[in-house]
Amino acid sequence: MSQRIVFPTIIAPSAFPGVDAPQSLLVSGTVAYDDIITPKASGKRLLGGSASYAALAAAFFTDSRLAGIVGGDFAEKDRKRLRSHGVDLDGLHTEAAGKTFFWSGKYHENYNHRDTLETRLGVNAEPRPPLPEAWRETQFVLLANDAPTLQLAVLGQLHEPRFVLADTMNLWIETARKDLLRVAAHANLFVLNESEAELLSGESNLFFSGRKLLKETGARSVLVKKGEHGALLFHREGLFALPAYPVTDLRDPTGAGDSFAGALVGVLAALGRSDFTALKLAMLYATAVASLTVESFSCDRLESAGVTEIESRAAALREMTRLPG
Ligand code: AMP
Repeated sequence: MSQRIVFPTIIAPSAFPGVDAPQSLLVSGTVAYDDIITPKASGKRLLGGSASYAALAAAFFTDSRLAGIVGGDFAEKDRKRLRSHGVDLDGLHTEAAGKTFFWSGKYHENYNHRDTLETRLGVNAEPRPPLPEAWRETQFVLLANDAPTLQLAVLGQLHEPRFVLADTMNLWIETARKDLLRVAAHANLFVLNESEAELLSGESNLFFSGRKLLKETGARSVLVKKGEHGALLFHREGLFALPAYPVTDLRDPTGAGDSFAGALVGVLAALGRSDFTALKLAMLYATAVASLTVESFSCDRLESAGVTEIESRAAALREMTRLPG
């Protein structure tokens, strides 16, 4: 199991007087096999999926529970990879007669844009058993990228969660907008990338689109990811911007958004809080973790990374953003 980052030792007590009790995190989403083509290399049947990346990232900070479904083709070694990193798989259902969600994507020359070549839902389209009884009380929840109907089905089983982060992608904005807006209305934090925010809001200016989503979706806050340009948080108490960690060893951007989201709610759950200050600190660690994910294919770098590397990237980001005075 990976080591954990322990917050009371690294945060200024003045910023967080009396850190609350750490909470577990429930991550629901896809567990997948991915075929990936990048400008320099490619890989086949790599362990991926929104929930795999997110749950692994979250496990650096708190107890991470993964809810999802896989087919009979899901390899025991991949189950072991998730477990050995500390991810609780009691909510990962196996539908032995079906196939695991499959996605293939190809990145453009600058790694910023990608085309989805194929999405095969497999067992992800099948009905699944309810969440484990004890998990329904989980206070911090990540609805990682998945069909909005499935995200709503998870929400419907939870008993008044304190904080819900909802993630999505262009496919669902285009094909399931109405259900997606129902998900967003329940979210404490609704996360999208820049082009998705434009697509959903109809605004091409980033500030206009973030503000419009905050005003019109019902989400309590909205975070727009801008790849190597960082991320912007639109919160009722104000705006917060953070650059990305400058990665020079970029190999495969897949999972950057998922691991960002996983680490972000992982930090909030570890702190047991979700106010504006906590969200800023969570963005710092989410940015550090996402920068590691993209340095290798699949979840490899998330597994090899240690607490020291995450801490040192978080420290570098603090330094990069420090202003005189
Ligand atoms: P990201 O690069 O953060 O957008 O996440 C990529 C991961 O999301 C891949 O591992 C895919 O298996 C998974 N994925 C791709 N398409 C979908 C989809 N429509 N719904 C849920 N997960 C998806």
